Amino acid sequence: MPDQYAISKLKEVVQKRGGNFLNPDDSMTNQLLESLLINEERYGYLFCPCRLATGKYTQDLSMICPCDYRDEDINEFGTCYCGLYVSREVLVKKKEVITVPERKDRPPSPIKMWRCKVCGYLCVRPLPPDVCPICGVTHDRFEEYRIK
Ligand code: SF4
Repeated sequence: MPDQYAISKLKEVVQKRGGNFLNPDDSMTNQLLESLLINEERYGYLFCPCRLATGKYTQDLSMICPCDYRDEDINEFGTCYCGLYVSREVLVKKKEVITVPERKDRPPSPIKMWRCKVCGYLCVRPLPPDVCPICGVTHDRFEEYRIK
């Protein structure tokens, strides 16, 4: 069973990942981090605490935290499937957290290239990030970018 020290260390690591915010509900966040650490002990990787693992790394890869679906769910619903990560709007309480439907069985969304108009950060994904991981501006400061 992971102890408080392990949970707070994982929290530090997750918080240092750019452009993402942990759920401000500390009790829920700590429970999810604890479950992630239990999954790491069990499988050898931080498998999503809200999904069923096969125990086979390559089959579970898309659901190792942060999962492949996190950013799209944050864009659409303001939170990832588990509620571990939230959007900036949820963080500042401008938006309520709602139940997120499972995305992994849906067909992938078309992707585009996005450019942060402030710092020039480029990314390729369905929608711009909630917050630029480099300079911290919000998604509305991004533009679609096309190579001419
Ligand atoms: S749903 Fe959230 S907690 Fe689960 S793997 Fe994705 S990002 Fe991590």
